Amino acid sequence: MAASLIGMTLPSWASHLEHKLAPPPLLLVQAFVNTLDLDLRTDVLAHADEARAWLADAGLRDPGPSSPGQADTDFAADLQLARDVRESLRAMIARNTEGKPLTEAELRPLEQVTQQAKTRLEVTSDGQVRLGTAIPVQRLADGLAGLLLTIRDAQADGSWDRMKLCGNPECRWAFYDRSHSRRGAWCEMASCGNKLKNRNLRARRAQAS
Ligand SMILES: [Zn+2]
Repeated sequence: MAASLIGMTLPSWASHLEHKLAPPPLLLVQAFVNTLDLDLRTDVLAHADEARAWLADAGLRDPGPSSPGQADTDFAADLQLARDVRESLRAMIARNTEGKPLTEAELRPLEQVTQQAKTRLEVTSDGQVRLGTAIPVQRLADGLAGLLLTIRDAQADGSWDRMKLCGNPECRWAFYDRSHSRRGAWCEMASCGNKLKNRNLRARRAQAS
């Protein structure tokens, strides 16, 4: 069953997202970061075949050799880069809620992307200046650079500030805060907000007695 996003059918690469969805194209950043689900202990990028299929479906990387048995020697390195960049992006989102600067280790995978990616500037016939990566994307670095360009645009229009990480340290799910006050702190009140509040309440009661 396809979930719907304000009347739009959710793309297959975002099928693991259920609520507090970011508007496209930021939705892809959210879907990428949430390929790791700490709560359910699932990771779309844990196994090479599943990871390759998801990255291709999301348009972040060419699926590679189509005939079985043909070597895709770069994939192991790409998979490591994808996992590392995922945590760097999570740290960038965490900065919105926690304010901590990124560490050198968190910045390094992003530097690898910006160094490897081939971005290009183009001026369209209607006079619009665009910065983008080659389409269709073949190399992972270009696909990941596309995510960074999406983040840059979201930073420019202010929507990036609404990307947040769930305040439950065992969850860290990336969600989009559409609340008027912009003070949302949980991926979902029922699954994380109340659970954590109840736990803190129990701890306080135990301390008091
Ligand atoms: Zn949560």
